[in-house]
Amino acid sequence: MAKKILIIEDEAKIMRTVRLYLEQAGYEVVWASDGTQGLAAFRHEKPALMILDLNLPGDRDGLDVCRAIRRDSNIPIIMLTARTEETDRLIGLELGADDYITKPFSPREVVARVRAVLRRTEQSEITPEVVEAADIQADLQRRSVTVAGVPVELTANEFDLLITMMRHPGRVYTRAQLLEATQGASYEGYERTIDQHVKNLRQKIEPDTRDPRYILTVRSIGYKFTEG
Ligand code: CA
Repeated sequence: MAKKILIIEDEAKIMRTVRLYLEQAGYEVVWASDGTQGLAAFRHEKPALMILDLNLPGDRDGLDVCRAIRRDSNIPIIMLTARTEETDRLIGLELGADDYITKPFSPREVVARVRAVLRRTEQSEITPEVVEAADIQADLQRRSVTVAGVPVELTANEFDLLITMMRHPGRVYTRAQLLEATQGASYEGYERTIDQHVKNLRQKIEPDTRDPRYILTVRSIGYKFTEG
């Protein structure tokens, strides 16, 4: 069955182009032109992934939509942003978006990102495996994580970041390596993106974010998962 992608975008021209390319790539596409409609479509269409424009007309902009959805869903979200909206982009990542694409973009890039994000979120459905380190357990098939036996909800990026480091406790990863592990090599990466994901992840798994127990900062290099 074709995977359903929800596009929330008010610019009909952009939406039509993206829809065309996604449909050609074998996806089913549904569309909403503002945040309120978008949230309604999200609830009843149950899409596999969402492409969300940040700058939407009406009461709810893209950040509001992202925030509302992240309250109870880990659906992969790719944000569309204008080049000038760097702050919004960072806030979006902070709110748990999985990736972003800067306008103007090529529709092919959108298809590639959609594939990459879906692949990351589905990969683990094929290989049942559990990764354990310290008192964190991650079920790669279910993409579920428990910390000291307590389940925590992670976004796709946070999960991938955690798994990458958990597989090799003590090994130091640069931000570039972590970007590659979570986004794929083609990602137009910003190191601050990783810092933001780590910050979000810590808020979910660390008992004290000021004194992290699991994900340790390695000064001027990057991060590592604790050996202890
Ligand atoms: Ca717009």
